[in-house]
Amino acid sequence: MLTDSFGRIATDLRVSVTDRCNLRCAYCMPAEGLDWLPKPELLTDAELVRLIELAVTRLGITEIRFTGGEPLLRRGLVGIVRAVAELRPRPEISLTTNGIGLDRLAGPLRAAGLDRINVSLDTLSPAVFVQLARRDRLADVLAGLAAAAAAGLSPVKVNAVLMRGVNDQEAAGLLRFCLDRGYQLRFIEQMPLDAQHGWRRAEMVTADEILAALTGQFELTPDDPAGRGSAPAESFLVNGGPERVGIIGSVTRPFCGACDRVRLTADGQLRNCLFARAENDLRTPLRAGAGDAELAEIWRRCLQAKLPGHGINDPGFLQPARPMSAIGG
Ligand code: SAM
Ligand code: SF4
Repeated sequence: MLTDSFGRIATDLRVSVTDRCNLRCAYCMPAEGLDWLPKPELLTDAELVRLIELAVTRLGITEIRFTGGEPLLRRGLVGIVRAVAELRPRPEISLTTNGIGLDRLAGPLRAAGLDRINVSLDTLSPAVFVQLARRDRLADVLAGLAAAAAAGLSPVKVNAVLMRGVNDQEAAGLLRFCLDRGYQLRFIEQMPLDAQHGWRRAEMVTADEILAALTGQFELTPDDPAGRGSAPAESFLVNGGPERVGIIGSVTRPFCGACDRVRLTADGQLRNCLFARAENDLRTPLRAGAGDAELAEIWRRCLQAKLPGHGINDPGFLQPARPMSAIGG
C-alpha cells in the first residue's frame, strides 16, 4: 500500500494524459496558452498503461481518474481506458474534462469502460464563457454534457469555479440548471495554481460566499458528514434532497488530512500533492528498463515524503512551478 508518514493511504491515482488544452480558462492559463511539453517527453500509451498497471496490481490503487490539460485531446484515450478496464483488480475509471468533443466520445469512452465523468461548466452565458475561457465553445460543452448522460455515465458531475466580477452571480443559476437535468454540481474554490500567478486571496470567491448565494434561493442542509470519507466536497441536500450540491473549499476548508490521492503527470513525473514542490521521475527509469520492484520503490518514496497539508494558508506559501494544466487537476 502507498502510505505516508501521517498514516494516510493513497488509493486514488490522477493521471494527466496531456498538458494541452483547447480552452484558456482565466483561473488556469494565460490567454496566449503555454509552452506545451515536447512530444518525446510524454509517456506513450503503453508506458502510461504500464505505470497504471503497476499502481493497481502492486500498490493498492483502486481508482484512476484521467485528466489534463484537456484529456479528450489525447488521441489514444479510448484505448487507454479500455486497457485500464481490463486490469484486475479492475479499478474505478473516471474522467475530468471540459466537455468539448464529448458529444462524439462519450459513447466510445463508456463502451471502453469509463465509469464516471466530471464536466467543467462555469457559466451558462455564451458571452461570459468567452470572457472566462477565451473561446466561444459553450454550445460544445452543453452538447458534451447531454451526450455523457445519454451514454449512461452516471452520475454526471459538473465542476464550477467562480471568479469575482466574472461569473460569481451564477451560483444559483448553475445549480438550477444541474438540478433540472439530473447533474450533480460541485463548486471548487479557486486555488493558486494558474500559470500566470494571478490568484489573489482577497478576490477568491469563498465557500462561505457560495453557500450564502445558494441559501438565498434553496434550502440547504448538510449531508451526513460520515458519508464524506476522503471526498473533498462538503455535500448539502437541496430542498430536502435527494438532490445534492457539493462545495470544495480547497483554500478555506482544507481537507488534506483525509487526502487519498497521488498524481502522475503526462511526462511521467509522480507528485504526492497538487501543491508539491518536488516530483519523482518515473519516466527515466521506466525508459532505462527498470523493473516493477524498482518503480514501486520510487512510488513508495514519493508518498513517504508527502507533507501534512498544502500550506496555501501559511505565510511562506510558494506556488508550485508546474501549473494546474500540466499537473492534472
Ligand atoms: N480540462 C479539464 C477540465 O477543465 O475539466 C481537466 C483539467 S482541469 C485543470 C480540472 C479541473 O480543475 C477543472 O474543473 C477546472 O475548473 C479546475 N481548475 C483549474 N484551475 C483551477 C484553479 N486555479 N483553482 C481551482 N480549480 C481549478
Ligand atoms: Fe483547459 Fe481545464 Fe485549464 Fe480550462 S481548466 S484551461 S479547460 S485545462
